[in-house]
Amino acid sequence: MSLRLKDVVKEYPDFKLRIDLRVNKGELVTILGPSGCGKTTTLRVIAGFITPDKGNIFVSDRSIEHLPPHKRQIGIVFQDYALFPNLNVLDNIAFGLKMQRVKRILREAKARKLLKLVHLKDYGGRKISQLSGGEQQRVALARALATEPRLLLLDEPLSALDAKLRKGLRGEIRRIQRELAITTLYITHDQEEALALSDRIAVMRNGKIEQVGSPQEIYNEPANLFVAGFIGQANILEGTVRSIERRYALFNTALGDIRVPAPRSCYPGRKMHLFFRPENCTIRNSTPAGNKGNYIRGVVAGIEYLGEIMQLEVVSWNSRFILRLRGCPPLAAGDQVVFSIKADNCRLLPATR
Ligand code: ATP
Repeated sequence: MSLRLKDVVKEYPDFKLRIDLRVNKGELVTILGPSGCGKTTTLRVIAGFITPDKGNIFVSDRSIEHLPPHKRQIGIVFQDYALFPNLNVLDNIAFGLKMQRVKRILREAKARKLLKLVHLKDYGGRKISQLSGGEQQRVALARALATEPRLLLLDEPLSALDAKLRKGLRGEIRRIQRELAITTLYITHDQEEALALSDRIAVMRNGKIEQVGSPQEIYNEPANLFVAGFIGQANILEGTVRSIERRYALFNTALGDIRVPAPRSCYPGRKMHLFFRPENCTIRNSTPAGNKGNYIRGVVAGIEYLGEIMQLEVVSWNSRFILRLRGCPPLAAGDQVVFSIKADNCRLLPATR
């Protein structure tokens, strides 16, 4: 089943949500954004807990706005599990089926099947208080899936768990989502989680989606400064487009001219921002004669060893850059360095869309 939010608007005194989004059949789309950007409001609108002021919600091209939450056939997993402490694991999972008056033998068979799917085969008789946080979240997922929902909504399902458990469980969620091919909307403020899990990511800010794309697109081709800065580490340098020649622009910055692919939106004289990722920089022994190419001179202000990778902080005039280098060149704080960035690894971005 596909999900479509069409021009949905929800307004509060200090906040306005305006959203248009499509999740294709069997796809896992993540809504990623900072606290307060409207992620949970979006999910609650889809689930039917909040009535939007305008717009439509379609599941497989049929409008669902008029349906109460329990008739929308949507499975939801919350951050805080929300399991019933007085029921054992099996009864928690079978709860929705009981409400639908499914016969005991059938609902228990279904719950057992789901326990197997979430790798908790022998846990059916346990009390909820006898489960770890990760196990409780698996039960919550099984419970959300028991009624065979048309859509699965996950609201920061891993944020109460520790880092190691989060990584393990996000892989599990992805496996189960793929196995069932269930259309899923996943909410998180954790960019690493979004990059690891998603078919596509919708980056949200101030109630609006700034960009929707595959993890690679969002990481390598951010639509604006906000997206570039929110996902991974970004090096940014202000400047003005000096000239355009075929596919490339010469971009004038306080640190010299940088050659970059010219986006359609650029024209000579336009103020924009140069963006490049830390891993796309190469340390040079010297600046070649004539200073042709994308070279920046600076001083090493900090070094961090991250296993195989060395992270340098380089200061050049009043700009600061992060470089991530494979291997560990013999450098120390205070050393003068020259680094280069290939033109094709640079992007020019507007401040906003
Ligand atoms: P977080 O990651 O912190 O959970 P979020 O992205 O899920 O944040 P929402 O909970 O959707 O954000 O809230 C978006 C904005 O809407 C916030 O500024 C919040 O204060 C506001 N808001 C949410 N519910 C109401 C309400 N019932 N009345 C007024 N304002 C509200």
